[in-house]
Amino acid sequence: MTKAFASRGDMTEKKIAFTRISPHCWAYEAESDPTSGVIVGEDAVMVLDTRATPVAARDLIARVRKRTKAPLKYVVLTHYHAVRVMGASAYKAPYVVASQGTYDLIKERGRQDFASEVWRFPRLFQAVESVPGLTWPNLVFEGRLTLWLGKTEVQLMHLGAGHTKGDTVAWLPKERVLFAGDLVENGATPYAGDAHLGQWVQTLDRLKALEPRVLVPGRGPALTSPKACLAAIASTQGFVQTLLDTARRGVSAGQNLKQLFDSCRKVLEPDYGHWGIFEHCLPFDVSRAYDEASGIDHPRIWTKARDVEMWKALQG
Ligand SMILES: [Zn+2]
Repeated sequence: MTKAFASRGDMTEKKIAFTRISPHCWAYEAESDPTSGVIVGEDAVMVLDTRATPVAARDLIARVRKRTKAPLKYVVLTHYHAVRVMGASAYKAPYVVASQGTYDLIKERGRQDFASEVWRFPRLFQAVESVPGLTWPNLVFEGRLTLWLGKTEVQLMHLGAGHTKGDTVAWLPKERVLFAGDLVENGATPYAGDAHLGQWVQTLDRLKALEPRVLVPGRGPALTSPKACLAAIASTQGFVQTLLDTARRGVSAGQNLKQLFDSCRKVLEPDYGHWGIFEHCLPFDVSRAYDEASGIDHPRIWTKARDVEMWKALQG
């Protein structure tokens, strides 16, 4: 049976929750849709990931405005994916912050990624015509950037490649809250179409070492105990490691992409098939794992044409 491409068949609106997770932090949760984070400091607000369009961002902004009059000063991009960055203009924030790796990817492939993601997730790109153009960071860092929202310290860190080359996490050392972006998922399948799988596993070890008390994942509800944080990091790591190991074995046995896809489904489905967007992610994940196991270090750019061709070959 042919499956509807990516998430084109998914038109059910998700339930939104805006949850206070620590004295200064909030999670904007949307079931298995992308999560955003909000940090309300004494004199400024930081938003992590913007929603997919300015119109989609309005609800988040309204919820922030109900709770504080402090100005929206920083929009932080955890990575370059369009579904997380294209709502940025709605915030009118003076600073749009990203890692150097994320800036480079926006420059290299932002346009193609936007077109491909709109095609993959039509429901999320509500009023897509309201997007004024690509989101360009104007505060770019390498390694670590510490910002103070009044007395509240926020460390933005690039701890290594993973879900993308430029993944950024936000860490509040005092409250031990970690905003992990798509490096960690909770009950949703990790998307690895643009990933560096081997490095992702190592980067997740660095997240474990922070010993977060609360963790906001890329998708799914926030984790609110140290044990639950570690479990979410470990289960994401388990998925990524299993995908990579299976790809390495398949490639050295001479499997083609379709054969590898079938092997990966067999290995991954029993443990992870119940996670959100599993059928959406699997073909992209296997395509990238096949490339990485074949020695292609820099993920190939997805375009609408490549999306369609791949889907026909694997899920058609
Ligand atoms: Zn992503």
